[in-house]
Amino acid sequence: MTDKIELTELTREELNAEIINFGEKPFRAKQLWQWIYFHGETDFNKMSNLSLSFRKKLEEKYTITRPKIVKEQISIDKTHKWLLEFKDGERVEMVYIPEKDRGAVCISTQVGCAMGCKFCHTGSQKLTRNLTVGEIVGQFMVARDVYKEWPSPTNETRYLSNIVVMGMGEPLNNLDNVVKALNIITDNEGISLSRRRVTMSTSGIAPKIVEALQKTGVRLAVSLHAPNNTIRSQIMPINKKYKIEEVMKACSEYQQGDHSRYITFEYLLLKGINDSTEHAKELISLLRKYKLRATFNLIGFNPWPGCGFEPSDRKTIEEFSQILDKAGFAAPIRVPRGQDILAACGQLKAKK
Ligand code: SAH
Ligand code: SF4
Repeated sequence: MTDKIELTELTREELNAEIINFGEKPFRAKQLWQWIYFHGETDFNKMSNLSLSFRKKLEEKYTITRPKIVKEQISIDKTHKWLLEFKDGERVEMVYIPEKDRGAVCISTQVGCAMGCKFCHTGSQKLTRNLTVGEIVGQFMVARDVYKEWPSPTNETRYLSNIVVMGMGEPLNNLDNVVKALNIITDNEGISLSRRRVTMSTSGIAPKIVEALQKTGVRLAVSLHAPNNTIRSQIMPINKKYKIEEVMKACSEYQQGDHSRYITFEYLLLKGINDSTEHAKELISLLRKYKLRATFNLIGFNPWPGCGFEPSDRKTIEEFSQILDKAGFAAPIRVPRGQDILAACGQLKAKK
């Protein structure tokens, strides 16, 4: 017996081709797509507008599976973390961060991460493998199952209203799969999440930034974390390959000709390393030099067992924020979420 094909691995075009190949009319592919991504159905037998014989054939040849929930934890602030397992036993963590009547799901793109940022818990776990298209989409579908957000809400109220591609892994190092997955998630006849509600964060893989955004239409966040190459290379080894100037140039290219394109620069404040008033001023000059329209997102360092850094004091972070703000760059301080369950930024890890 040949292995069954997992349908969530296929883009819409691929699914169409598959179903036509199968000897069915194109509109059957559309109906199937809607069952999978609009209704969230995983059982072919419940796809009531498909003929019995077609359902039976589908069952023989295909699967629609979800990553398995191995463990879940809910923080005192309602942040929800899941440990998910894929078919081969590999695992990632996913987090849902609820706000009043909306919320963001933080999804992963790789098992582990090869970037090795010194402050990041995920980075201390080597890269095992890229996630597949279906594994990336499947994470969001699991969250939708848990919060019973099927069929896809057609009005604007969604509890799972946003996606941040800020879990484990460097998305631009798994670009093909990430692009396909985001295109599935934002497809109008399925989950139909607006592209403007998806933010992809990169550690700065400069040559892929423009391509990634052109192919997905989502928003860009860059983990900057330092105002110059000396500091950045110390804490983010990728900076030795792609210097700040290259990252800035890519950001500027991305913004050219489209004024709605704002970039978020994530800036993690590490005590005594990148948090002085001089560093703030250096950052301002850097952004002005490249004429970037940007906001900052100041992140307090979330410690994890065995890390060598300390978070900056509250007062230092506030001063840093004010300096940027006075220069015209909004710089809100991100409120940490889910710290008690190690669900905050940079704390995800999924050792077997
Ligand atoms: N790999 C991507 C996205 C995931 S990380 C990236 O690096 O951009 C999401 C954000 O959390 C990044 O800005 C990352 O630098 C930051 N981060 C990593 N470790 C952290 C820690 N210990 N405390 C706070 N933020 C952290
Ligand atoms: Fe990877 Fe992002 Fe962590 Fe760096 S901060 S090691 S890029 S997950």
